[in-house]
Amino acid sequence: MGHRFLPDLSADELAERQLAGLKWTVGHAFANCPAYERKFREMGLRPGDVKSLDDLARLPFTSVEDLREGYPLPLLSVPEEDVVRIHGSSGTTGKRKILAYTQKDIDTWKGMMARCYELAGCTRLDRVQICVGYGLWTAGAGFQLGCEHFGAMTLPVGPGMLDIQVQILADLGATTLCSTASMALLMAEEVEKRGLRGKVRLQRGIFGAEPHTPKMRERFEELLGLKDSFDIVGMTELYGPGTGLECAAHDGVHYWADLYILEILDPETLRPVAPGEIGEMVVTSLCKEAAPLIRYRTRDLTRLVEGDCACGLRLPRHDKILGRSDDMIIVRGVNVYPGQVAEVLGRFPELSSEYQIVLTRVEGKDYMAVNVERAEGRASGGDEALAKAVGQAMQKSLLVSAAVKVMDHGELPRTFAKSRRVLDERQ
Ligand code: ADP
Ligand code: ZN
Repeated sequence: MGHRFLPDLSADELAERQLAGLKWTVGHAFANCPAYERKFREMGLRPGDVKSLDDLARLPFTSVEDLREGYPLPLLSVPEEDVVRIHGSSGTTGKRKILAYTQKDIDTWKGMMARCYELAGCTRLDRVQICVGYGLWTAGAGFQLGCEHFGAMTLPVGPGMLDIQVQILADLGATTLCSTASMALLMAEEVEKRGLRGKVRLQRGIFGAEPHTPKMRERFEELLGLKDSFDIVGMTELYGPGTGLECAAHDGVHYWADLYILEILDPETLRPVAPGEIGEMVVTSLCKEAAPLIRYRTRDLTRLVEGDCACGLRLPRHDKILGRSDDMIIVRGVNVYPGQVAEVLGRFPELSSEYQIVLTRVEGKDYMAVNVERAEGRASGGDEALAKAVGQAMQKSLLVSAAVKVMDHGELPRTFAKSRRVLDERQ
């Protein structure tokens, strides 16, 4: 429907592409990557065994341990002279992941990012301020590459540097802001503080890289005067940012099923969850050359969104990323996800979107403290009652007690990268 970058494929056409891509990927990995060849041989599999999409379920999994074993160039499947770039992950959990790219990989990625700008409603007249990390990280490179390929004007500011950030925002009249959710909040509060709202011409935000709450999003949308904002997903292992984007219908994230296959599996049994249930995202790339992924366990949790999207795009959807399986903390034998804490806090309009969980151990016993902030402009008078109410709500929904401390608005740390919500001081 007049899209320059977004594909419009029927279910049959999509399946055909997926099967061709799967066959190619398996053959390529088997022939050129000893680690994959070994895995296949151990299971008695040969590339020719993949005859239909159902055969995906017979293939071995790839995990973050495989990336570690192959460090620094894991899963390399091309001669080194074909590698034109490497990127590394931010290392949120454990050792940094380094991934290699061929020129074709870079081109695929820039096409993915261009789809994101298109889906977010950008035109070539948009001015796109990119406030994410450049260099080793995939974020800056991906947003910029895609923006230029799409044909809009790139304003590559990078992360932090609030003075320059705000100056470019106002002077160049950026219309689109690309950042983490945390950075969007930081910028929004800065714009507010400096009374620059009237100078800001932003229309939309494209934000991602970390889970966000509706509350956090409402706050930066309001302060920046955004007409709309779009959650972008991605990971270094699968090129970088731009593996999918929320559309204007805001009912899930469209993902590029012609470029990778997404399975949602039960992390325990590694079998598909029931339709619509939450599970681990497992991805298989369909045309990735330098480091192909076969059933890569991302540890990210989400669910598939069924049915057709109101926006009319014929590309499947998953829900926003609800967290990572390795985000889970165990407090006194109870499993807790930071997202559950955020969900409880979201019910209290008296609080801001920010929080921090602090875990300590005293005489062999775990204690969980949750630091929260008063919403902007609220007086401190009712702190004690508020802390008590939040503590009770938390106990009810998490089944574990927490000492809640209400702090001044803006007292919790703000960051231009991904927020660190859990401080585990237990060892
Ligand atoms: P890491 O953070 O593991 O070092 P990356 O920098 O590649 O690695 O970040 C990718 C990870 O960030 C994803 O696996 C996912 O956990 C998280 N992530 C990316 N985009 C989003 C998003 N829009 N919402 C929630 N989490 C996200
Ligand atoms: Zn849609």
